[in-house]
Amino acid sequence: MAAKLIDGKGLAARIREELAVEVETFHKTTDVQPHLAAVLVGEDPASAVYVRNKQKACEKCGIKSTLHRLDESTSQSQLLELVDELNRDVAVHGILVQLPLPSHIDETAVLDAVAPLKDVDCFHPENVGLMVQGRPRYLPCTPAGCQRLVAEAGVETSGAHAVVVGRSEIVGKPMAMMLVQKGDFANATVTITHSRTKDLPEITRSADILIAAIGRPKFITAEMIKPGACVIDVGINRLDGKLVGDVDFEAALEVAGSITPVPGGVGPMTIAMLLQNSLTAARLQTD
Ligand code: NDP
Repeated sequence: MAAKLIDGKGLAARIREELAVEVETFHKTTDVQPHLAAVLVGEDPASAVYVRNKQKACEKCGIKSTLHRLDESTSQSQLLELVDELNRDVAVHGILVQLPLPSHIDETAVLDAVAPLKDVDCFHPENVGLMVQGRPRYLPCTPAGCQRLVAEAGVETSGAHAVVVGRSEIVGKPMAMMLVQKGDFANATVTITHSRTKDLPEITRSADILIAAIGRPKFITAEMIKPGACVIDVGINRLDGKLVGDVDFEAALEVAGSITPVPGGVGPMTIAMLLQNSLTAARLQTD
């Protein structure tokens, strides 16, 4: 039986429509337009596309977006100066530093420099700490998108075994932390796996909810999936000129209960969650 497709594109469009109404109301009542400043360093074409998509999405829902494009040769102190300027600009509510940064720049130092209230990606240790403690200011965009997709699939998370493959600071680790929280769409029993994990297929096969955030095309095969499981594919990989996820989608369709496509799954949800955080940021910084 073919798995149910979880339509991230459709869900993200609905969320964006609702947000547009909320942004308009906020703008009218406060005279403040939420404003997200994006910082792009260097010429990485994929990063440029991501930033452009985020900017377009902002504009469509009434959030002002500005782009600060810096040369590949920008020094760390120049970048930190810009971040400081944006931190102090009261008209800017959210700051997005597009990753990856060029190798001569210490990414952690730059992300730590973003004012926590403007950290709409939820990368700052203060915001990560609040999230881990179950009192989030912002939710990290990609994991929050995944959580909404599990909810959209109608899958019960409470008591379910969720297996997260990948332990990055951006996806795997915060994803696991969110699913283990007390509360709605959480309360799962969570296993985090990574490249040193032994017997990975055995662990993934016990997952009621399987989140793949690895960055390796079609790594999760049908044999690694429990029949009926909810499979969320975070991966974005290029294979033979096509975008594919970390899950062998065609084969997984025959085993999983529900599954996100790539593209059209997690990607659009990540952007929708960023917009949501940008509105929250404007609210938190407006008296
Ligand atoms: P990272 O490269 O930072 O992390 C990958 C993780 O996968 C690591 O923890 C690594 O383990 C683990 N891993 C690698 N090989 C294996 C293996 N053989 N078995 C088990 N685990 C393994 O990637 P990200 O988390 O940043 O991104 C993951 C994917 O998601 C990428 O394709 C990325 O493009 C995509 N992505 C998509 C987004 C979206 O909006 N849809 C947003 C962000 C990312 P270890 O720690 O041991 O090295």
